[in-house]
Amino acid sequence: MRYLSTRGGEPASAAEAIVRGISPSGGLYVPESYPTIDWNNDVRGGYLATAHRVMQAYLPQTDSTELMNMISAAYKSFDHADVTPLVKLREGEHVLELWHGPTMAFKDVALQMLPHLMRSSLRQTGETKQVYILVATSGDTGKAALEGFRDVEGTRVLVFYPYGGVSEAQRLQMVTQEGNNVDVCAVHGNFDDAQTGVKQIFASRAIASELKEKGWRLSSANSINFGRLLPQIVYYFTSYQSLIASGEIKPGEKVNFCVPTGNFGDILAGEYARRMGLPVNKLICASNRNNVLTDFFESGVYDDNRPFYQSMSCSIDILISSNLERLLFELANRDDSLVREWMQGLKEKGMYALPQSALDELKQTFSAGWCTEEDTLETIKHIFDETGYLMDPHTAVAQCVYERYVKKTGDRTQTILLSTANPYKFASDVLGAFETADKDDFANADRLKAITGAPIPKGMSELLGKPERHLDVCDLADMPKRVLAPILGSNK
Ligand SMILES: *Cc1c(COP(=O)(O)O)cnc(C)c1O
Repeated sequence: MRYLSTRGGEPASAAEAIVRGISPSGGLYVPESYPTIDWNNDVRGGYLATAHRVMQAYLPQTDSTELMNMISAAYKSFDHADVTPLVKLREGEHVLELWHGPTMAFKDVALQMLPHLMRSSLRQTGETKQVYILVATSGDTGKAALEGFRDVEGTRVLVFYPYGGVSEAQRLQMVTQEGNNVDVCAVHGNFDDAQTGVKQIFASRAIASELKEKGWRLSSANSINFGRLLPQIVYYFTSYQSLIASGEIKPGEKVNFCVPTGNFGDILAGEYARRMGLPVNKLICASNRNNVLTDFFESGVYDDNRPFYQSMSCSIDILISSNLERLLFELANRDDSLVREWMQGLKEKGMYALPQSALDELKQTFSAGWCTEEDTLETIKHIFDETGYLMDPHTAVAQCVYERYVKKTGDRTQTILLSTANPYKFASDVLGAFETADKDDFANADRLKAITGAPIPKGMSELLGKPERHLDVCDLADMPKRVLAPILGSNK
């Protein structure tokens, strides 16, 4: 299995794709074909066995036993035996809880696995340099990457997050991070600015050669890395299998997935599962006020010339959705010159438009919607009142969009809602659905527990009292300097 770049250039092996993160042409790596999997027979035997079946199909060069060992090690840190349990919410609606990992958000599913994939890939490619992983985060990727790569030999991690643009729990999780190879810096700008800054650093020959001289190469733990996408395909299969096992669907029956979407990695994994043969009816893309994707799925025009809003579902406050490029590559029938043209349009004018035929194809699988902050709070409240289930703001965005989808279409297909964070990660905002919140996040968490009875996760209470170790802030223009400083300074 080889990997093609969405913007053309030489194909790469899986290991090369994972080590590089992004292709030399600036494109994203996609598999040259989608392996098919028998969703009924191949994926029995629980999460780990399914993960092995799915990932091995994309990593044929990785030794089977080694892969199983990596998977077992990665998901050991999850606090639920099913890894990503499926909970029935109401008739026809099921919540897939993706946040049972160490940082309480769905990024752990991929970022507990990526360091193992990275190490194995480094070995396979014979890479001798150390790997410097740069991350731009809207809140959750940063902590998950720090935790995943902490003290992993031969690696170093630097996370940039938008100053003032993440929740207090998210900030604390990052600035209190322990480990000898980890580094965190806030930037004056929003997530898109930080992500663009990181992409520019990747594209800089000067930075690459300075690092190379010191024995380092850059790589990415952002969801543009194929090694991030791959572990996420797994839970689409396990949740489907779980609906069969509980008798909610007949084998082969199609289901919907509704996904709170930012950088388009999570929902794209669903599209990959569909291409691998999973019976999917609709993938529903849910956004907050930053509704660039809703407009795109309706009109075929991607236009990021619009205000950026900070919201309580801050991990999906994104206007440039990087992983969409992988879907565009398919819509272009894998014509990389067309993808280059659209991406050029995005860079120069902040927009591009699909031809009608591509839009029609898109609409066969995807549906999209968005909701406001008030809608989000109202959804948290009415779902709790009706079912006793407490949702975080991201999950609530998906729930609200799903309810409107049902009203509009009458589609009663069994639906799996992807729940991407534990509600306590956003305790103050979630409490706001019930009463006026205090300033203190931890007091709010206690209040939320008193009202709802939902247990406070251990990781949350442990944050209190940990020393804040990483309090650096820099301007966007200084990001390259900040990347080089520890390497040039340490003279290693
Ligand atoms: C990252 C994140 C998302 C969005 O996932 P994408 O793969 O970027 O679309 C949604 N919810 C939470 C809580 C997240 O951390």
